[in-house]
Amino acid sequence: MKKYDVIIIGAGAAGLMSAVELSKRKKNILIIDMGKKLGRKIEISGGGKCNFTNTHSDYSHYFGKNPRFVCSALSQFSPQDTLNWVKSHNIDFYEKEPGRYFCTKSSYDIINAFITDIKNTEIKFDTKLSDIIKTDNIFTLKTNNGNFLCKSVIIATGGMSYSHLGASETGYTIAKKFGHKIEPVRPGLCAIKTKSFSPDLSGISLMVEININKHKIKDNLLFTHFGIGGPAIYRASLLDCKQMHINFAPNINVFEFLKSAKQTNGKKSVANILSKILPNKLAHFLCKETKNIADYKDAELQQIANKITKFEITDGSAIGMQSAEVTYGGISTEQISSKTMESLICPGLFFAGEVLDITGDLGGYNLQWAFSSGYIAGNNA
Ligand SMILES: Cc1cc2nc3c(=O)[nH]c(=O)nc-3n(C[C@H](O)[C@H](O)[C@H](O)COP(=O)(O)OP(=O)(O)OC[C@H]3O[C@@H](n4cnc5c(N)ncnc54)[C@H](O)[C@@H]3O)c2cc1C
Repeated sequence: MKKYDVIIIGAGAAGLMSAVELSKRKKNILIIDMGKKLGRKIEISGGGKCNFTNTHSDYSHYFGKNPRFVCSALSQFSPQDTLNWVKSHNIDFYEKEPGRYFCTKSSYDIINAFITDIKNTEIKFDTKLSDIIKTDNIFTLKTNNGNFLCKSVIIATGGMSYSHLGASETGYTIAKKFGHKIEPVRPGLCAIKTKSFSPDLSGISLMVEININKHKIKDNLLFTHFGIGGPAIYRASLLDCKQMHINFAPNINVFEFLKSAKQTNGKKSVANILSKILPNKLAHFLCKETKNIADYKDAELQQIANKITKFEITDGSAIGMQSAEVTYGGISTEQISSKTMESLICPGLFFAGEVLDITGDLGGYNLQWAFSSGYIAGNNA
């Protein structure tokens, strides 16, 4: 049976970046993936334009038991290194928001860059890893396509979300078998179900500020038929989203605005006044008061303002794993070297990407993590 230097499990962003580095080191490698093509999540990322990095990447944009675990990987392969790699492949890109980079044409440009860089690498598709056995420093990988031998393995099997693009628990099962701890997994970067709003608001989008466990998130919110979504909510889903307060008018002092309207537009209803600063349907949903604004005492206006600026949700729950962009939790970073991505329990076993208990914020942080961790796994395996 052929023995490889390294076998990479998973042809996603992390596995492919490991393969690039291993190819540079002239290692004899094999990539196996249970799907039929490379980079399936890269392809759909960023709405097909792949938000491939964020130059603000540092540990403060990552979640998990120990976000500082990302520091070494991000310094060894930084967002600037990602940009340089993208430039070296003549890919057109643009900065959509400060620090947030997308492909101008399509995510395929990133996949094609990988294809160019790993052109001599052996890849087996439709090959699902089921188990790994280690004897005498050699790993035997069991798959539906036969067994494979290697000196080192990189587990880059990703998370559990978007399972139609290839998700399995194998990475976690194997890590556990070799003595690694697994942090509980849950959906992240996804919409939130709540009964606090009417489905009639579905489709309305506005800038809000969300306060959740001392965190503040200012971004767009989108009402859906089952609750709330949009970037602000995706980011909130990384926190404990059961309870949160939403400020629907974060750029305005709503109480002062109502007090001044009471002087100038006393004969209008409060809801009509509010529809000057909020979408009309939302203003009428949040404020059912029909009396003229002049008939309200300031204390009552303060209560109405509070409903707009401190709207409380107590029944928030992340929508299922299937439509979450990432998986929160995963293989604990405790027993893994942050400098090499090698297991501290089982020499020769490496991990990279979303399979680990590291989750990035919305904005290119997850792909940067996959690239950085894949890079160092590929340099050390
Ligand atoms: C809709 C969507 C949009 C996104 N947009 C962005 C974005 O713009 N920017 C950003 O930074 N992040 C984005 N993300 C997140 C980002 O795509 C992922 O975090 C990243 O791709 C993870 O890379 P990975 O290599 O760790 O895992 P994956 O890309 O999930 O790759 C894992 C691979 O392992 C294979 N595999 C799993 N189990 C087995 C097994 N047992 N045997 C063989 N093969 C196996 C799978 O088939 C898969 O190909 C998005 C995610 C989604 C779902």
